[in-house]
Amino acid sequence: MSRVFNFSAGPSMMPEAVLKKAAEQMLDYEGCGQSVMEMSHRSKVYQSIIDGAESLLREVMNIPDNYKVLFLQGGGSSQFSMVPLNLMTKSGKADYIITGQWAKKAFQEGSRYGKARAVASSADKTFSYIPKTDKSMFDPDADYVYICMNNTIYGTVYHTLPETGSVPLVADISSCILSEPIDVSKFGLLFAGAQKNMGPAGVTVVIIREDLIGEPMDITPTMFKYKIHAENKSLYNTPPCYGIYIIKLMLEWIKNDIGGLENMKKLNEKKANLIYDVLDSSNLFKGTVVKEDRSLMNIPFVTGNDELDALFVKEAAENGFVNIKGHRTVGGMRASVYNGMPLEGVEKLVAFMKKFEEEHS
Ligand SMILES: *Cc1c(COP(=O)(O)O)cnc(C)c1O
Repeated sequence: MSRVFNFSAGPSMMPEAVLKKAAEQMLDYEGCGQSVMEMSHRSKVYQSIIDGAESLLREVMNIPDNYKVLFLQGGGSSQFSMVPLNLMTKSGKADYIITGQWAKKAFQEGSRYGKARAVASSADKTFSYIPKTDKSMFDPDADYVYICMNNTIYGTVYHTLPETGSVPLVADISSCILSEPIDVSKFGLLFAGAQKNMGPAGVTVVIIREDLIGEPMDITPTMFKYKIHAENKSLYNTPPCYGIYIIKLMLEWIKNDIGGLENMKKLNEKKANLIYDVLDSSNLFKGTVVKEDRSLMNIPFVTGNDELDALFVKEAAENGFVNIKGHRTVGGMRASVYNGMPLEGVEKLVAFMKKFEEEHS
């Protein structure tokens, strides 16, 4: 068996230890005679799995007690509607910062349900930076300010959060959750699809401050109400059972094998810096993002020559580095180096980049 190094923006690599554990438990979960995939979501044994996933997430992310943790379905994209349907209920206004396609989609969805306003955007330079904001730019009446924390397609991240005063900050952390510590208390709501940094596609984690779980708009479908899912502890209907179980294994790996999010961050910095160092010293490859806003997770780069980019992507795949092609709006390459990408994969990619540069300059 030979496994490839998958640099995809998502779904992405899982740690081998997690996959092995899941394989080991596939037919018989802890002596109960069945797979997690087969068991009732109302059973005692499954209750211990979902409770375990929640308490591990609370511990690893240091989530304060006045926040609820929800395991939902519908991907990050469903949150683009759930957030306004549930939160845009006081003034009916919300401020959005447009840092890429995911933020733009969220803004468009928000505009369907209330007065969504685009406060700032970095569209003028293909989203290669995080626009500067200050408190005076935000409507103090807004129900929330919305950001996309790590911009998966463009490779930017917020290193400092916008100052929003008393207006709750809502953040899409789909592509950076669990990659480093985050101060949850600075946010009203955080959400993330699991398939980048914490598990398989099909689970979406929502972390919401309790006082924001109010009455949603009348038109809100029952399944889109945070209140329903909070009251039923994510078991209003059948949750994505198997995905939640894998998240639990992933959290055990982060806690026990890695040693928590401080260590996870160190490892992620080490991986990202290996690539950024090549980009900064290369005569062939160039990063596309301003240095101060660079992401640890998604690293877009180009050679400036479309044919050479295509050749790099092709030869990389032949050498076991797959899905490294950039997003069509940026071109070139993008190396996504989430939690599951081993250091070895990045070291080998970097060696391959250096060799490619020698051969083509
Ligand atoms: C991948 C991604 C999404 C979309 O997630 P789905 O689960 O496919 O709906 C949303 N936001 C960000 C930042 C992403 O990286």
